[in-house]
Amino acid sequence: MSVDLKSLVRTIPDYPKKGILFRDITTLIEDPKGFRESIRRIADAHRDGAFTHVAGIEARGFIFGAGVAIELGAGFVPIRKRGKLPGETIGQNYVLEYGVDTIEIHANVLNANHRVLLVDDLIATGGTAIAAISLLRRTGAVADDAAFVIDLPDLGGADKLRAENVNIQALIE
Ligand code: IMP
Repeated sequence: MSVDLKSLVRTIPDYPKKGILFRDITTLIEDPKGFRESIRRIADAHRDGAFTHVAGIEARGFIFGAGVAIELGAGFVPIRKRGKLPGETIGQNYVLEYGVDTIEIHANVLNANHRVLLVDDLIATGGTAIAAISLLRRTGAVADDAAFVIDLPDLGGADKLRAENVNIQALIE
């Protein structure tokens, strides 16, 4: 029987700030069937994609992305916040509600021979995912696919990503 993933996500009001409803996936990954099914469903939708790498966004994208990479027989590329990767990096800025943030990957890992699947826990406004796709594409790699456990469709991020010619899978809306 398939697992009701939505029922395993917990909603925490006023986190990290008053007025925000935070969707907490820790309750999903604490459930063995829920965790496994999440990874299986993402992997199953991408088995024919010939992906050489899965790129996960720090930090919750690592949890799901690593499992998907193993299932697909692909390598895993961590997309990290600025200053966390030890080697030479390339970075991409993106605008937050207040200010600007930067994500980075190691330079000289991806190139035009590679095909990358982006994975994160959640897409909201899409700012993070669009920056990640731009960063991956700047390497020359094909980065036309993204998978999320949760999409918050009212915030329009998935539509913005589709407008950048990215195919999107979301397990829960
Ligand atoms: P966006 O850039 O507005 O699409 O926000 C998505 C990023 O913020 C992802 O990396 C998520 O992990 C994180 N995020 C935003 N809202 C939530 C939430 O309610 N639960 C978990 N992560 C969130």
